[in-house]
Amino acid sequence: MQVPLLDLKAQYQRIKGEINAAIQKVLDSQQFILGPSVKKLEEEIASYCQTHFAVGVASGTDALILSLRAAGIGIGDEVITSPFTFFATAGAIHNIGARPVFVDIKPDTFNIDPDKLCQYLETRFSNKDSVRESGRLKAIIPVHLFGQMADMRPILEVAQKYGLKVIEDAAQAIGAEYENRRAGSFGELGCFSFFPSKNLGGYGDGGMVVTNDEKLAQKVRMLRVHGSRSRYEHSVVGYNSRLDSLQAAVLRVKLRYLDEWSEKRRRNASYYNELFRQAGLTGNDSSGNSSDGPIIVPQALKGRRHTYHQYTIRVREGRRDELRKFLTEKGVGTAIYYPLPLHLQRCFRYLGYKEGDFPVAETLCKEVLSLPVYPELTPEMQEYVVDKVREFFKKG
Ligand SMILES: *Cc1c(COP(=O)(O)O)cnc(C)c1O
Repeated sequence: MQVPLLDLKAQYQRIKGEINAAIQKVLDSQQFILGPSVKKLEEEIASYCQTHFAVGVASGTDALILSLRAAGIGIGDEVITSPFTFFATAGAIHNIGARPVFVDIKPDTFNIDPDKLCQYLETRFSNKDSVRESGRLKAIIPVHLFGQMADMRPILEVAQKYGLKVIEDAAQAIGAEYENRRAGSFGELGCFSFFPSKNLGGYGDGGMVVTNDEKLAQKVRMLRVHGSRSRYEHSVVGYNSRLDSLQAAVLRVKLRYLDEWSEKRRRNASYYNELFRQAGLTGNDSSGNSSDGPIIVPQALKGRRHTYHQYTIRVREGRRDELRKFLTEKGVGTAIYYPLPLHLQRCFRYLGYKEGDFPVAETLCKEVLSLPVYPELTPEMQEYVVDKVREFFKKG
């Protein structure tokens, strides 16, 4: 049996008629940049994310860059984020001339650890005025990794205490919730990606910034068209970062299916959990307590709506790469998100971090393995995947 990590062809087959008609409409209009389909998508995404405004941009990376710029962050500033995320989070901070500062993550959610965030800030600033005096540290970018939101309540508290802005990297978490509120609606700005493999993926690059602040929305709107408010008048230097009409048309069709797809991802995740538990492979019981199975299945914490952009297990005792090779031979697609933490990337050597600085992120990079969890996955395919994992550990 072949079980790919993701099967976008299966998704397209089901909605082909609607998608093709939507694309045809844009072709007939010959309006390709911004335009009515982008405007409508912006309204629909704002409403979906429970925010007042949404601004379409060229990618998730640009959503981060334009958000940072709109928040007034720039050369010489510092921004805290997670070392265990897709490269673009820290890349965006670097590319606006600011400096990424990393804080370690929690092993159960893969997201930034609020206790360590507090510790970092307390150690660095003995009182809350010194953060303003130093003037450098400006913001926190919590990343909602794999479709589960970071622990926003303590993050927002500590951000307020130290006068830091919060920009959410929600690229993997559209529709995820924390205490019944949607990802992207907590910070000053929220950033989404429509990269084809994301839960809401276009047919090319695309992104969106959401916010409740009208001024910030206007700034992002200005930054995406070279910083001009009216044609040929530039008060700031911006970017060419607009969302295509074709992408917006495709995304508007897919947005109508998003909740159904997220529900199926959740169903698939709980079926995996059940199968792994029955096979005696899990190192955590349903309440998250450790026992001694060889794998740890992902935890959906109470009060959060996990959208399972990835279903990521942890493989203990250094056997991850071997298991991955075995699964590849058996036709099961897997991926390692992420094999190297950002503080150990060559391009960030100038930041001065070293191995051992963020032990949780470093350990997880050696243990994580993402399994297929896409909505069209069948129970038979999942049973096959778990059976192959069982076979691997049985043969020792
Ligand atoms: C995908 C992703 C991005 C970047 O999005 P692009 O659309 O590929 O530029 C940023 N952050 C995270 C966490 C992502 O997963």
